[in-house]
Amino acid sequence: MTEAARHEAVARTGPAPSHTGGGTAAPSAPGHHPAEQPPARRRTGATAPGPCPETRPDGGLHDGPAAHSGHPGPEPGRGRGPGRVPILMYHSVSANPTPATRSLSVTPAAFARQLAQLAEDGFTTTTISGLLAARQAQPGAGEQARRLVALTFDDGYADAHSTVLPLLRRHGFTATVFVTTGWIRDAGRGVDVGGRLAPMLRWGQIAELHQEGIEIGAHTCTHPQLDQLPTRTLRHELEHSRAVLEDRLGAPVSTLAYPYGYHSARVRDAVREAGYLASCAVRGAVSRPGEDPFALPRLTVRRDTGPELFRRLVTARRLPAAVWRDRAVTAGYLVVRRGRSVWGRVCDQ
Ligand SMILES: [Zn+2]
Repeated sequence: MTEAARHEAVARTGPAPSHTGGGTAAPSAPGHHPAEQPPARRRTGATAPGPCPETRPDGGLHDGPAAHSGHPGPEPGRGRGPGRVPILMYHSVSANPTPATRSLSVTPAAFARQLAQLAEDGFTTTTISGLLAARQAQPGAGEQARRLVALTFDDGYADAHSTVLPLLRRHGFTATVFVTTGWIRDAGRGVDVGGRLAPMLRWGQIAELHQEGIEIGAHTCTHPQLDQLPTRTLRHELEHSRAVLEDRLGAPVSTLAYPYGYHSARVRDAVREAGYLASCAVRGAVSRPGEDPFALPRLTVRRDTGPELFRRLVTARRLPAAVWRDRAVTAGYLVVRRGRSVWGRVCDQ
């Protein structure tokens, strides 16, 4: 069975039961859905192939404790309070995605419609660094007035350059692309970790994105489940990926996205110590002022995110009921992660 086929097979069967019980996982939920299981847990920093399945089938539209109570909760985007900014998470934008990346991909036509929709609704885009800077300069009010939205793209697929960039240019939009350095197409010996599930960016394309004002962030070296790594390997994934990108771009790299959305207090501390200023999780919530910059929530845009759901992701005031139910599923899976996290710490001694 190919790696892609194996990944899909696992995705259909959901997560395997694992350790349960109390633990040290982050209070901020990793945005992982059982329907898209990451590869089997590994103790070391070995390559963890697979797209970034940080998502849920409904598009990740969850927010806050209200999701558990069944009461309508606050919504992303306008009308949700000062300074709340939806951070959208994309992966591949392709008409013909590989089987392994399909569910998390969107078509170029859908992406073009989404950008047009944002433009029509008066949104301005920002990078993750730009969002941080805006909050530091003018917490709350400025963001609301400008109706900011942040577009992010995980893994570093080649279509970020071939498809996404031209469409962003059409609207004068910007974005943040989180690159897994070991998957860069011409990563080179000693860096290349293989396991690519779709055509990936080349260094020259990454440099051009950077020159076009797209923020380049890190997405580790090998795309592991960071909360499961021994500390030494964890630090290497964070520090080396950042150093490689900074060296090649000749510019600071200050943001990170967690592969699979997994993080913990230990991971967040390591990210901070590695010199990052912020990192993106998933968690299916709108980003709010004052939240932990090392656990920025994102909203997933998937292939089945239609125009209506997309609009609700960025602007609506009420969550659909299906979202609350799915939130409960995610919360249940967190218990599994907490158990694993404890085991990971033991292994780290
Ligand atoms: Zn990823």
